[in-house]
Amino acid sequence: MRLDTLLIHGDEGDLNTGAASTPIYQASTFRQHTVGQEGGYQYSRGNNPTRHALEKQMALLEGGCRGFAFGSGMAAATAVFNLFSAGDHIVASRNLYGGTSRVLDRVFSRFGLTVTYVDFCHIADIAAAITPATKALVIETPSNPTLMVTNIRAVVALAKERGLLTVADNTFMSPYLQRPLELGVDIVVHSATKFIGGHSDVLAGIVVVKDSKLAEDLHFVQNSTGGVLGPFDSWLLLRGLKTLGLRMDRQSQNAGVLAAWLRSRPEVQKVYYLGFADHPGYELHKSQAAGTGNVISFDVGDGTFARSILSKLKMCMLADSLGGVETMVNLPDVMSHGSVPPERKLRMGITPSLIRLSVGIEDPVDIIADLEQAMRR
Ligand SMILES: *Cc1c(COP(=O)(O)O)cnc(C)c1O
Repeated sequence: MRLDTLLIHGDEGDLNTGAASTPIYQASTFRQHTVGQEGGYQYSRGNNPTRHALEKQMALLEGGCRGFAFGSGMAAATAVFNLFSAGDHIVASRNLYGGTSRVLDRVFSRFGLTVTYVDFCHIADIAAAITPATKALVIETPSNPTLMVTNIRAVVALAKERGLLTVADNTFMSPYLQRPLELGVDIVVHSATKFIGGHSDVLAGIVVVKDSKLAEDLHFVQNSTGGVLGPFDSWLLLRGLKTLGLRMDRQSQNAGVLAAWLRSRPEVQKVYYLGFADHPGYELHKSQAAGTGNVISFDVGDGTFARSILSKLKMCMLADSLGGVETMVNLPDVMSHGSVPPERKLRMGITPSLIRLSVGIEDPVDIIADLEQAMRR
């Protein structure tokens, strides 16, 4: 099946009753028929039918061997980092999501997992950071919020040459636009809170792995540490996934309109958007993804002005998230990236006047009208 069809038919619903929608198995435990029963469902931390349906669907969509659903994107990332041990080392992109670098720097560092951050635009810099203790390369492409593009194929080639795992945060693209496992990545992580859920009503995380050894290891971590997604939230994601393609198409199309409008405005000094042919990552992104996504960041040059725009918006929602059906705006400097050290923020292009826009599925005329009235001095 093609991806658009898989989104609808990948999850087959309830085979016992024919129900079109997979039921919410709101149960913590399951009756066992013999002592020490093998297979089937036993206890929902280990496996739950609704979660299992979601995990199977995500594995299909990402082209992996098994999926795992967690209570948040950070719980998913944490489970991946739990695959490593004290003394191991990771080389990670300097442009990782703030929460991902925070859990590495302030939680995993206390257990002896060390990280070196480098600019993943330069493959030579990644190679130079690899030590005998290095176990994995961690990337996020395109990056949040300035949409830097990492060459997935080149990173994978380096990782394979050095015997390392490659981990990719695919939140910004979703499997609809980018499938890193098909390019050789070993582990894909999602904040399913964003596009997979798509309706700003559920917090969730997904991991999909490529091979069965990793699947076994991750299932061990998932069951041992227990940060699993509940049945109802799993069902919300199954429901959200059915319109992932429609939403991504409309959001990307609206983003194109918004980006061109922003670029024409005298108040705006710089627009970061992957659909502009003069974006430094334009060609590379096109070679590894099927679309530009809906995120645009723009710099208005003055932090006070940026704050005034954000507080004057009436329809666009000032909020800490992205990927929902509603247009959301954010001031990365103090919101999504508030926990990132100042010098790292500036290197990422996050100034006090940078605004991030996650374009929704509204009529773009109304989004533009709202931004226009908010920009009036
Ligand atoms: C939001 C986000 C996360 C964290 O996910 P939560 O669901 O908020 O825990 C991780 N990576 C990226 C790229 C994100 O946007």
